[in-house]
Amino acid sequence: RFAPSPSGDLHLGSLLTAAASYIDARAQRGRWLLRIEDLDKPREVPGAADRIQRCLEQFGLQWDGAVIRQSERLPLYQAALRQMRRQGRVFRCNCSRQQLEAQRIYPGTCRRTAPDAAEPAAWRFATQAQRVCFEDRIRGRVEQDPSREYGDFIVERRDGVIAYMLAVVVDDAAQGVTDVVRGADLLDCTAAQIQLQQALGLPTPRYAHVPLLVEPDGNKLAKSRRSAAVAYGDTVARIRELLELLGLDPPAALAEASPQECWRWASEHWRLAFLTKIQQISLQNRG
Ligand code: GLU
Repeated sequence: RFAPSPSGDLHLGSLLTAAASYIDARAQRGRWLLRIEDLDKPREVPGAADRIQRCLEQFGLQWDGAVIRQSERLPLYQAALRQMRRQGRVFRCNCSRQQLEAQRIYPGTCRRTAPDAAEPAAWRFATQAQRVCFEDRIRGRVEQDPSREYGDFIVERRDGVIAYMLAVVVDDAAQGVTDVVRGADLLDCTAAQIQLQQALGLPTPRYAHVPLLVEPDGNKLAKSRRSAAVAYGDTVARIRELLELLGLDPPAALAEASPQECWRWASEHWRLAFLTKIQQISLQNRG
């Protein structure tokens, strides 16, 4: 699945992740799902969700089935939250942003002393001290202790907005997602998501975290940088660039092919091995 937040248009980095996830699904003869993670309405950019879909279509990245929008699935997340309230796995928290500013992870303030019931509060997941291990298909074996490395995290904000962490776990399970292929910026929250899955009795999918795309100067891609924007125009030439960035070596003959044929070629030659050796994908690699 590809699960963009409509907080802006796709940049080349997100398109690269979408491509990796698409090729991987096709290589396994699987379905590829599109889910718009639009729970944070204030951060949503008007029209971005539509433009993301048009961009994927333009590049021939055709998803299977209907597009899921998280904003239409609130009862599902509320039910998961109720389940964890019954189990005592979440606690109310009214710590302000300011109070937590200097803290790397949540210091446990409201876990020890519950805020007044009348006060508006967020809900946080109580992480447990436990080493969580998973086999990332790109990174190899990963071991993290969410309680020490990630901390108790918000599942429902004080303003009632369901947090990404809860929604992503509920939806991956509800949609029967077996393989998550996403950007390496999400590696650090994966063990915390696995602990949440376990608390909710949900299965854990396989994970593959794709190295992040960086500018030739080593900087992360930013929407403000012109070079990072997805350029339209010669779609097949752009797809070739994406394939090369993912370590594939498309033959010259593909220049005459359709986007679909390019992806088909990619799924037949797909291997994650190239991506295991590198920390970042640099735009310098561009052919
Ligand atoms: N919605 C998240 C984002 O745009 C991605 C979530 C995921 O792939 O788990 O960064």
